[in-house]
Amino acid sequence: MPALLPGAATLGVLGGGQLGRMFVHAAQALGYRCIVLDPNAISPAGAVADKHVKADYLDSFGLAQMARDCDAITTEFENVPALALETLAGMRVVAPSGASVAVCQDRAVEKAHFEAAGVPCAPHAVISNDIELAAVDPSLLPGILKTSRMGYDGKGQLRVSTAAELAAAWAELKRVPCVLEQLLPLKAELSVLVARGADGQLVNYPVQQNLHRGGILAVTEVPARAIPADVQQQAVAAARQVAEALGYVGVLCIEFFWLDDTASARLPAGLGRLVVNEMAPRPHNSGHWTMNGASVSQFELQVRALAGLPLPEPRQHSASVMLNLLGDLWFADAGGPTSPAWDRVLALPGTHLHLYGKAEARHGRKMGHLNITAETPAAAHDVALQAAAVLGLPVDF
Ligand code: ADP
Ligand code: MG
Repeated sequence: MPALLPGAATLGVLGGGQLGRMFVHAAQALGYRCIVLDPNAISPAGAVADKHVKADYLDSFGLAQMARDCDAITTEFENVPALALETLAGMRVVAPSGASVAVCQDRAVEKAHFEAAGVPCAPHAVISNDIELAAVDPSLLPGILKTSRMGYDGKGQLRVSTAAELAAAWAELKRVPCVLEQLLPLKAELSVLVARGADGQLVNYPVQQNLHRGGILAVTEVPARAIPADVQQQAVAAARQVAEALGYVGVLCIEFFWLDDTASARLPAGLGRLVVNEMAPRPHNSGHWTMNGASVSQFELQVRALAGLPLPEPRQHSASVMLNLLGDLWFADAGGPTSPAWDRVLALPGTHLHLYGKAEARHGRKMGHLNITAETPAAAHDVALQAAAVLGLPVDF
């Protein structure tokens, strides 16, 4: 496949969210035209694309339009039906493949893939009927019951301590197929972003240290100050292994838990201190720092991988912290939604604001992110704490 050269091709995106918007920005900077398919009349990516096809992901007319007008097509959202990608793949370059996305859409399949790639994940059991429910090994309790499909930002998950709670939780989740995972003692969470080309070229960013609040990513720091070098090397090797084993094309984010071995009594036999949690077949919230802290952003790498262009080895040039900006920030004053004090935030050195163009702020809605870059990790961390204080965010990192 010859590369789709900048300035002479059109790239398509399934999904109109903020990840699609930042992909479109990166693609347009390289001179590509972009078309976004999204069912909503107004969307962050649709608003900046050269064209917005307003149709459902499985609408045959919408997909036909994408196939006709785009040279290559990607997705910004992992719950886009794999069938949509497979349909398009018959006609155009598609990355990642429907098969790769299908693995990421189902926690049980995803975990089987991790194990087959030789990367350990949390001890777990699949529950899709009463026999499997009754057969659950009690050593998995206390645990977290997660729906196999469609979960994100902590949604579709319940913590359970006993067999009775497990049965009740499964009923509450409407008895859809689930995975019960043993609750592990987490010391920290980390993620690794890799990008792989159709020719097998594979590059990665350094390890990202992530703090979640209420199941949603809140803070990412790179370098990962709290994670020992050997654990970081292990995570990078595991992420590359997972991408290779999938024959993946595009940007892939793999999330890991670093376990607390002081509580080793709770650590299942044979499990090391690093386990893989889940992966996302696309650029990821924890990689947003790359827009300002690295020689090439995760979105440009996604564009390059899709277009068949060379993938440069990313180089981190600045210590970085990313603060996620949720709609809650707009409700600091009782009077109703008001813009946070961006002027005061942007007075701090090395701050880079990215807002996604969402008209209405809502609690828990991802409105944007703030990147902080500095010469040293300590300086970036210090400015991030100041920015968090101005915004009224917790200063607990
Ligand atoms: P989501 O798809 O919603 O991001 P995750 O599986 O990543 O779901 O779980 C959300 C968060 O819940 C994780 O980031 C982690 O903080 C916590 N968590 C998930 N699984 C476990 C586990 N097995 N042990 C301990 N904490 C967990
Ligand atoms: Mg997660």
